[in-house]
Amino acid sequence: MTKVVRSDAEWRAQLRPRAVRILRQKGTEAPFSGEYDHVFEPGSYICAGCGSKLFSSEAKFDSGCGWPAFSAPASEAAIDEESDSSYGMVRTEVMCAACGGHLGHVFDDGPTPTGIRYCINSAALRLEEE
Ligand code: FE
Repeated sequence: MTKVVRSDAEWRAQLRPRAVRILRQKGTEAPFSGEYDHVFEPGSYICAGCGSKLFSSEAKFDSGCGWPAFSAPASEAAIDEESDSSYGMVRTEVMCAACGGHLGHVFDDGPTPTGIRYCINSAALRLEEE
């Protein structure tokens, strides 16, 4: 995997402000506000920062939680996971393995066969429709 390394200034010049806030500052968009929450078109969800393929539309489901939800990543190598104890909660943070951008969190309460729910900010993603 080719690592993508850019300075804060370079990210700010390249990305929309809300993508900077999510990807580079670990922000969270408001629930039900993101553009992909209720999108189910076939395609690949790539990192809004570096273009790395992160999730397939085939793994996307409607969790009702207000953010795009996936049952599995496109590949194990595509994402990194790390324990996150911010805001008084112990959660598992999900990051783009290529650029380190914050994507969201993963929970083990998924209704899907994997039991896994990747809860991802729309602004961290870009859908390449098939
Ligand atoms: Fe990335």
